[in-house]
Amino acid sequence: MKQYPFLDLALANAPYMDELKAAACEVIERGRYLHSTQTELLEQEVATLCHVKHCIGVSNGLDALKLILRAYKEMGKLHDGDEVIVPANTYVATLLAVSDNGLTPVLCEPREDTMNMDSRLIEGLITARTRAVMPVHLYGTPCWDTTLMQVAQRHGLLIIEDNAQAIGAASDTGGLHGTRVTGGLGNAAGNSFYPTKNLGALGDAGAVTTNDDDLASCVKALANYGSDRRYHNIYMGYNCRLDEIQAAMLRVKLRHLQDENATRGALARAYSESITNPRVKTPVIFEDMRQIWHQYVVRVDDREAFRAHLADNGVGSDIHYATPPHRQPCYEQQLSGLSLPLTERLASEVVSLPIAPPTTIDDARAIADIINRF
Ligand SMILES: *Cc1c(COP(=O)(O)O)cnc(C)c1O
Repeated sequence: MKQYPFLDLALANAPYMDELKAAACEVIERGRYLHSTQTELLEQEVATLCHVKHCIGVSNGLDALKLILRAYKEMGKLHDGDEVIVPANTYVATLLAVSDNGLTPVLCEPREDTMNMDSRLIEGLITARTRAVMPVHLYGTPCWDTTLMQVAQRHGLLIIEDNAQAIGAASDTGGLHGTRVTGGLGNAAGNSFYPTKNLGALGDAGAVTTNDDDLASCVKALANYGSDRRYHNIYMGYNCRLDEIQAAMLRVKLRHLQDENATRGALARAYSESITNPRVKTPVIFEDMRQIWHQYVVRVDDREAFRAHLADNGVGSDIHYATPPHRQPCYEQQLSGLSLPLTERLASEVVSLPIAPPTTIDDARAIADIINRF
């Protein structure tokens, strides 16, 4: 029986093996492993991709978000105990960045169609302590519209995008600086290059993207022990640097990102055209925005039986995410009293299908046939 693994990173990276090896060797032989040209070039390339002035390569996506919030605290724009509105339906890292900085996450329910934070609910969550909102472009679908932007502007909120799942996506509505590309829509964005993300390193990596000159220099200093120049520390900072080998790997992968995102788009279309089982709800394809399909997520009522049927037919699947952040043990004290019915329903119904390379259109159609027999 043919097997359809959910994700096999060795196979996903196999087409670039020669390029990756050559790029790694170049760094090894050159002997500059941090603070050098690969990182600088990657930063320029990601800034161009996201249509922003600044990109700072950092250690991972969570650190990117943490650094942005800490920098806004250093700049006097956020203070301990301030509230940050975040989607309830997200990966827990979004909330961890907020909590780590002594800020309070305030959870916003999603929309059914995008599964992203519902911008129409934001205003009802605003209090005298609200200072920022963190849209997450979940599964690669932009979370951005005029309502979000207008509410933020009316209440003077910072907009910090969690762009971990959406590098290369574009919204149908322009952002604060005119661009439509995620990572450049709000005041700043955290990007993740975790190996499974659409732009994946061969280890941990991330980046902060922003048009804000002051924020960029503050994040850059914070990520390097808080130093603005050698042995001169203006903040009690961190070591959150990106290394040259990962930057070199990412520069190779970046050359293929548009093609890979386009392939994922074609796979999503093939799935949605071919899945006709009324028990399986396919994700909405929005014609006027560019989704990058970090995950292709269907919804089913009897998830256990559905996944067993897939597994019996050689199809790997995964769940993103089975337990929403407010139901995680670490947030029991703070958030377990919340009732977030749509978030909880999604968490009980979602199933991610194979979408990463080397999945082909034929594979997607074969998997759809298996799904239609459920
Ligand atoms: C992956 C991810 C992160 C964290 O990125 P890391 O690089 O793994 O630290 C944050 N938010 C979301 C939505 C993610 O998917």
